[in-house]
Amino acid sequence: MGIKLAETAGFCMGVKRAVDMVLEITSNKGDTNVYTYGPLIHNPQTIELLRKRGVMPVDSIDEIKDGIVVIRAHGISPREKKEIREKGVQIVDATCPRVASVQAIIKKHAARGYTIIIAGDKEHPEVASLLGYSSNSGFVINDKKDVASLPAYDKVCVVAQTTQDSGRYKEITKAITRKFPHAAIFNTICDSTEKRQAEVKDLASEMDGIIIVGGKNSANTQRLAMIARNREALTFHIETAEELKNIDLSACNNIGVSAGASTPNWITEGVIDYLIHNQKGRVPGKLRSIYNLWIFFVRTDIASAIGAGCLSLVSMLLQGLGVGLSYILIASLCVYAIHTINRLQSRSFGRIRGGFREESYIRYRGLYMAVAVISLAMACVLSFAAGPAPFILVGLVSLFGVLYTVNLGGRRLEDVPASKNIFTATAWAVLTAVVPQMGVTLEITCGMVITFLFVFMLVFSKSVLSDTIDVQSDRLIGRETIPVVMGKEQVQTLLKGISIFTGIMLIVAMPAGCTSSLSLILLAPVFYIWICLELCDKRASFSRMALEGLLGINYIIAGVSAILWLIVTTL
Ligand code: SF4
Repeated sequence: MGIKLAETAGFCMGVKRAVDMVLEITSNKGDTNVYTYGPLIHNPQTIELLRKRGVMPVDSIDEIKDGIVVIRAHGISPREKKEIREKGVQIVDATCPRVASVQAIIKKHAARGYTIIIAGDKEHPEVASLLGYSSNSGFVINDKKDVASLPAYDKVCVVAQTTQDSGRYKEITKAITRKFPHAAIFNTICDSTEKRQAEVKDLASEMDGIIIVGGKNSANTQRLAMIARNREALTFHIETAEELKNIDLSACNNIGVSAGASTPNWITEGVIDYLIHNQKGRVPGKLRSIYNLWIFFVRTDIASAIGAGCLSLVSMLLQGLGVGLSYILIASLCVYAIHTINRLQSRSFGRIRGGFREESYIRYRGLYMAVAVISLAMACVLSFAAGPAPFILVGLVSLFGVLYTVNLGGRRLEDVPASKNIFTATAWAVLTAVVPQMGVTLEITCGMVITFLFVFMLVFSKSVLSDTIDVQSDRLIGRETIPVVMGKEQVQTLLKGISIFTGIMLIVAMPAGCTSSLSLILLAPVFYIWICLELCDKRASFSRMALEGLLGINYIIAGVSAILWLIVTTL
């Protein structure tokens, strides 16, 4: 089965802007009440996450007592705005600029004596807000047939709800022009809506089936489903991946997926992950088994353990130390345990449902915790056998790792901005680069420093890239990772700078006598960071699960490079 995700799926500019504005307020609000007048977006899961961050949706102005009121992207009528202002509360206007420009057209023409005709859904809050600007001279119609019942007027101004179907609006305006030849007609359909609808039309012609993801109460999502149905594509409108369990897709050789303007990307990705995981025939035979095994490893953090083992091997060879299996096991077991314990103890655990990893952790929580504790105990025993210095280092990393998500007098280390990326990279670098060296000598060599920096950069880059994909959900649950703090462009610049620095360091380290010739071979994983930057940029082409798997492969590339180098140099 072929799967194609629409490039336009997910939050539009207006929704993203409104969500960002609310999140900005929640990070500095203290005890102040924050209300949104009506739900901020038509997505129950996002509303629930915002509620947990202290943002209360209210349906009536009477429910507003004090604090801050956010006006959502749909906007509100001038009368409602006045009533809210009279409450003496602070208003934050998150009306989408494109909706605001339609309001301005209506206001201007109403003041000049035009009768306003809005083509849209009478019940939709955006239409209600637009109607409020028409000085009681407005009509709402939603079909060309409605035009006949309009009274005769001299001056008519016609606008569309920003999410109106462009085909329908064309028919309505044609009928209006026949009845009111001098009507002032404005195409106020948002180009983001037009592009989204055009893409669904193309997908519906190309694919056997179409899945539209988004709230059943979301008008723009309903419209996407209607457009696909009108093209006679087998169409399913779902809110989450869960619903796919009851849908038979066996008649579809290929499926197109799109999502409404208020659908968070992690929900759409959950749908893509479900389709990929349950499809037959996309990855053939043996390759499919390998693919499924790798995805299982990624999902359960075994991939992290394998990655740490690979980096431990690389570190020993890079520093010219003998290969010790126990150090590889220490790194693998310790990394696995800390990652798993942190996931299960994190403040954000279970708050985002539908993520490819969370479901499995939620379902088998006890089992995961037991395996993690046993792994940690084994790592401690092995490090004790390796000597006092490795034991102390592994003990310190484990302690910090376990305490990272624990509430320490009202504060958690995980709440420190950017801490996750820095702590993860430091822990990996200590376990893989420092522990084996300290098992041999307490001397700090330049080889150890170079190896520490190499592992740190590699793990830091992978961790940050992985968080780049989760930036939307991380912002909602208040997790301040580096991509959340810095923004996507700066992150790309930072990672490019880091990889260039690491590449130069590896090239210089060997002639300087700090590392073995392996350092030149290790330019391969450094180069792979650039490939990962491209992959994350083209996120729409991959599922979340596949992308995470591709990012994790970098440690395997480093490990395989080291093994090949070892074979060649010992022949
Ligand atoms: S669909 Fe367009 S007009 Fe409506 S909120 Fe999104 S960007 Fe704004």
